[in-house]
Amino acid sequence: MSISENIKTIQNNITKQCQAWDRDPASVDLLAVSKRQPPEKIEEALRAGHRIFGENKVQEAQDHWREHRAHYPDLKLHLIGPLQTNKVRDAVALFDVIHSVDREKLATKLSTEMEKQGRALPCFIQVNIGEEDQKSGIMPQDLDSFISYCREDCGLNIVGLMCIPPFDEPPALYFGLLKKMADQHGLKQLSMGMSADYERAIALGATHIRVGTDIFGARHD
Ligand SMILES: *Cc1c(COP(=O)(O)O)cnc(C)c1O
Repeated sequence: MSISENIKTIQNNITKQCQAWDRDPASVDLLAVSKRQPPEKIEEALRAGHRIFGENKVQEAQDHWREHRAHYPDLKLHLIGPLQTNKVRDAVALFDVIHSVDREKLATKLSTEMEKQGRALPCFIQVNIGEEDQKSGIMPQDLDSFISYCREDCGLNIVGLMCIPPFDEPPALYFGLLKKMADQHGLKQLSMGMSADYERAIALGATHIRVGTDIFGARHD
């Protein structure tokens, strides 16, 4: 299957799933996750007309996208991976949306840098929904105060929540939990669902699904 066929298949699945759950298909954005994919595959996705991409590392994203930026004014780049504070300046310059705000130090730095660059990027707060030691994300019990910190102390434009559920468990419970947390805070957007589980995520309210392997094939490590 070609990349353009893969994207069409996924878009069809999004439409079907939205119809089944009485949702508008336009309410779900497909982020094509291009991390660790070769340039020619990224170009193929662009030729197919796709314009929303997810990357998890700042440096690699710069390598992938610096040139394309100028040629595709409607391109939207989403940072979906953990962000170190020393990369914040480059991240704010390159990306359109940040999905991984997960600690006070980072929120503070993002706020300063966005002001400096005059770029008020929409942000998602990443929640460590399975409360796993090795995962990034704010712990569920700290979410209330962290949202206030981001909004009131930092003035960040928090639009939604993001999660990566535990690998070895069915994700539905976690997707449902994230949706509930978002509703409690009046947050409309939910970044959840990957190749293996995006249909489930849409059923439970995802507005941004992050799909790599099902579009581009296996990654180069
Ligand atoms: C790599 C990655 C994805 C894409 O995963 P696939 O299983 O290849 O679809 C989604 N979200 C995040 C945060 C990732 O790092």
